[in-house]
Amino acid sequence: MTPTQVLDASSIDRAALILREGGLVAMPTETVYGLAACIDRPKALRAIFAAKGRPADNPLIVHCADVADLDAIAVLDERARRLAALLMPGPLTMVLPRREGIGDDVTAGLDTVAVRVPAHTLARALIRAAGCPVAAPSANISGRPSPTTAEHVLADLGGRIDAVLDGGPCSEGIESTVVGLLGPDAVLLRPGALPASTIEALLGVPLRRAGISDGGSPGLRYRHYAPAAAVELVNTENELEKRKQQLEHEGRSVYVVVPSAATLYADLRMGDLLQADRILVLCDGTIRRNEALLNRLMKAAEPFTHDTTAGHD
Ligand code: AMP
Ligand code: MG
Repeated sequence: MTPTQVLDASSIDRAALILREGGLVAMPTETVYGLAACIDRPKALRAIFAAKGRPADNPLIVHCADVADLDAIAVLDERARRLAALLMPGPLTMVLPRREGIGDDVTAGLDTVAVRVPAHTLARALIRAAGCPVAAPSANISGRPSPTTAEHVLADLGGRIDAVLDGGPCSEGIESTVVGLLGPDAVLLRPGALPASTIEALLGVPLRRAGISDGGSPGLRYRHYAPAAAVELVNTENELEKRKQQLEHEGRSVYVVVPSAATLYADLRMGDLLQADRILVLCDGTIRRNEALLNRLMKAAEPFTHDTTAGHD
């Protein structure tokens, strides 16, 4: 096992060199830590899938340092230009027609590509120094909660990747909002850190909510965001207290989480570190109104009944 180097802001050039030479570097973004490889290094792109245990049919998001760089990757229509001008850099990913030269290793063979410009200074400095956009999924083992600190990255991928750039905890703590702009409808493919209502206000139309059935994001097929312990959602504080007592009476160790977007993944990981049998999560009216948080909670609480050949995100 090669040790994973832990780098900080003073070592951006070193991290960029690792990327140029075809290595893998985990980088902080405002959403979660991403596992980056240069998009012109096919072997490195394949290594992302191997390091994460990610299914080969789940495409990667291309991260650019600046909005001006998006045109080389994707074809932007008028809607995409407006969203890019007003919301990027930021936690928005757009799925658009891909430019020639954007390979199947990035798009998993689709003729579309997902693009974003992260708002984190270190991520942008790294991409700029590498001189090439990077493809970057979340830097976790597929199926585990996304990493929001360098420690989370090392816990999952230590020894499997070349370096992690430590930028401290991610401010948003939940993944980007993914919007498809391919046909006449703008489609919400994944709720995320940017509220869908902000995008709807700027486009002047409601976003169509996509299910897997109507060809949403390939990543929606897989079980995500789950810790090892069983996750159970409860609706009120009263119910939470009752359920906790009941479970403890049965001899189970319980870890209680009052979730927020910024802390959910760290809390789920903490439940596992403490070897809880059950993670009880308060999911009251206020929490349910946060579409992205509710989406991740529902996924974390899904019973472990997936087909093991299908893999994870
Ligand atoms: P992550 O793996 O956490 O980076 O999440 C990336 C998400 O974007 C996954 O749900 C992917 O399936 C989705 N995605 C990436 N590229 C595309 C694309 N071309 N079309 C639809 N969804 C995409
Ligand atoms: Mg992910």
